[in-house]
Amino acid sequence: MGKSTSYKILRHQISGLKCDAPGCGYTDASVSVVEYPKWVNAPCPSCGAPLLTEADYRAVLRHMAAAIKINEWANRWLPEWLLRRWDISQPDRKAGAVVYGEMNGTGTTKFRRTPPDAR
Ligand SMILES: [Zn+2]
Repeated sequence: MGKSTSYKILRHQISGLKCDAPGCGYTDASVSVVEYPKWVNAPCPSCGAPLLTEADYRAVLRHMAAAIKINEWANRWLPEWLLRRWDISQPDRKAGAVVYGEMNGTGTTKFRRTPPDAR
């Protein structure tokens, strides 16, 4: 029996923009990752510093590509019972991961297992 479904065991939760200028604190959590291209080097409405640097945007693309590769690898090589168990869309999943990335304008990303606003 072939696998009919594509399971996702890893997902990067990337959304929102925040200003990295010291002391600014501007954030816009409503921006989704598909809107990022038009925000690259756009000025912060509060202080004028770039909201999303090219380095950070390239990092976002790298992370998304890595997640796709990991999921492709898993779907190809892992048995379906394990994929079903790890799939992040299953409410009773035993593993699998949602990873939250936080960037600071330098192109490096800090990852955590909890949303940035749930500290
Ligand atoms: Zn700012």
